[in-house]
Amino acid sequence: MHDPRSLYPTIEPPEQRQPHPGLDKEMEPKADIGLDSYVGHGRLQGRKALITGGDSGIGSAVAVAYAREGADVAISYLPEEQADADRVIEAIEAAGQKALALPGDLCELAQCEKIVRDTVEAFGGLDILVNNASRQIWHDGIENIPDEDFDATMKSNIYSAYRVTKAAIPHLQPGSAIIFTSSIQAYEPSATLLDYAMTKAAMNNLSKGLATQLTPKGIRVNAVAPGPIWTPLQPSYGQPMDKLTEFGQQAPVGRAGQPAELAGAYVFLASDEASYVMGETLAVTGGTPTP
Ligand code: NAD
Ligand code: MG
Repeated sequence: MHDPRSLYPTIEPPEQRQPHPGLDKEMEPKADIGLDSYVGHGRLQGRKALITGGDSGIGSAVAVAYAREGADVAISYLPEEQADADRVIEAIEAAGQKALALPGDLCELAQCEKIVRDTVEAFGGLDILVNNASRQIWHDGIENIPDEDFDATMKSNIYSAYRVTKAAIPHLQPGSAIIFTSSIQAYEPSATLLDYAMTKAAMNNLSKGLATQLTPKGIRVNAVAPGPIWTPLQPSYGQPMDKLTEFGQQAPVGRAGQPAELAGAYVFLASDEASYVMGETLAVTGGTPTP
């Protein structure tokens, strides 16, 4: 038994800034994606998964866990994140599973369709889709959000999740699962993250709507709403500097979460153990309540 307040360290990140999208390997301290801790139990044996934003942060922890649970795993990411992706591909292969690296910008419709096509071709099918890629850039008020930024955030977050899902559905057999990464921001938007927060509410809503459509076809759709998790998104303009240095300490559990602490939720929602769970948003917030 472990005390959740101290099972992972309470971090006090030094001031740091990376260009978007940020790299795990440049973070201080490093994020814990479960490489040294996640133990699989065959819960996703023979499954074929596609994870967008699977190079770093939450997506990378999910990729490691899925592979160790017996799934082949494809990860999509931006080309400038190759160094982070390489580490995840290595971990998937070390677990004895097939890995597929899918660099490219999901703001483009063609790329959204391509990652599905390539995954199906490489693995002979697709039965778990994790819509996890997102862009989060903070701004001091709506009047300071450049229109190009608003557009890029909508395209990276909502358009990509919608388009990848649309491309994937024809391939999904009964028993398949779709999981969206929403956020506590869907319920409690920060003043500095208006555009980002609205995409997270939209993804939450899309997840529930799609569950209504796809449950009668035997496809389960759910979402996860993380609280403050220490990932490359945060130091690459995800937060103002003063919030970064005390990141996550406002959570009731008293510390930021690590990506590794999300893996279990995504494994559960993908596995047959969640056979009666549809249209749910699982909060992994360190104690902040969600409605
Ligand atoms: P992360 O930076 O490690 O992962 C986000 C990934 O999104 C990037 O690695 C990148 O590959 C991908 N991405 C962004 N724009 C893209 C584009 N245009 N094309 C292709 N890929 C693109 O950070 P993370 O925190 O692990 O983020 C994963 C998910 O978790 C996101 O949906 C984020 O909104 C969500 N989330 C994070 C937190 C947190 O505190 N870190 C909290 C709530 C929700
Ligand atoms: Mg990344």
